[in-house]
Amino acid sequence: MGCIKKDKTIMKIKFWGVRGSISAPVKPNYIRNKIKNVLSLANAMDIQSPENIDKFLDGLSFSNHSTYGGNTTTLEIRDKDNNLILLDSGTGIRELGMSMLGQGFAQGKGEAFWVMTHTHWDHIQGMPFFVPLFIPGNKFHFHTSMDNLENRLQYQHAFTHFPVQWDQYHATKTFSYHEEGEIFQLGKHIRALSKSMRHPGGSYSYRFQEGNKILIFASDAEFNLEEMDNIDQYLGYFRGADVLVFDTQYTFEESLQKIDWGHSSASMATDIALRAGVKKLVMFHHDPSYDDEKLDMVYLRALKYKEMFDPKGALEIVMAYEGLEIEI
Ligand SMILES: [Zn+2]
Ligand SMILES: [Zn+2]
Repeated sequence: MGCIKKDKTIMKIKFWGVRGSISAPVKPNYIRNKIKNVLSLANAMDIQSPENIDKFLDGLSFSNHSTYGGNTTTLEIRDKDNNLILLDSGTGIRELGMSMLGQGFAQGKGEAFWVMTHTHWDHIQGMPFFVPLFIPGNKFHFHTSMDNLENRLQYQHAFTHFPVQWDQYHATKTFSYHEEGEIFQLGKHIRALSKSMRHPGGSYSYRFQEGNKILIFASDAEFNLEEMDNIDQYLGYFRGADVLVFDTQYTFEESLQKIDWGHSSASMATDIALRAGVKKLVMFHHDPSYDDEKLDMVYLRALKYKEMFDPKGALEIVMAYEGLEIEI
């Protein structure tokens, strides 16, 4: 009997915030309408036992039984030794911080890398509410291609904007600046490099590689029709990613009206992913004005679009939601 060699999981990714621009909490009436809608779809059998209820809910669309989430950009990445890399610090990082307290960070024994794409509010606003940063002994190693990152973060703590000053964060903080394209190490296992993206004020995408597994995070990034004419200069960077997390804030129609707003559409993302031989595309940076039903629709349209150009099904597309975990 032949031995089947299994691909070993190396990197783990968890999404703590998936919205773009500003957080988007759900409203009481919105929840009530969801419940009303689900109840109207159920029959007596569907609600006879907890198992039946789960089965019934699993058969519904995502927006019926769940929500994509309202927090802004925060990702948790773990290497094969469980070393921690934080990516950005949108409002999602508050809850990530709470989860870290049980992992040595409450005692000041925690250590993490922290990679920052840029400093728009939706990518830094959670930092003042990230408890591990206040605890002496914890160590955070910032890595970025943004210039003056420490000054930019301090600015968020001007007394006119927030009562707690930057130097009241008692954890140890180190800052490493990397030129675009320079390879840098995040611990023993992960090598990373950045690429500049078209975005007002600038933004950097990062490519993380552990062994032969590749994760690319590319938000906030505008690939409009004009940029697609020059796509060849990006394809080498995106080539062969196991997972590509990509800015798909707008529908294609909306992206035509919002040139230079700094974001892309699912169809652009799909084109790039197919041309670069990406295995899994994660749609990310959801517009705050899109509710769960609209995001379901955006996802279905993306799948339909993909079917036209990917008859063999080489590419998988998923929607990012709060709590989504991916293993590579
Ligand atoms: Zn953003
Ligand atoms: Zn931005």
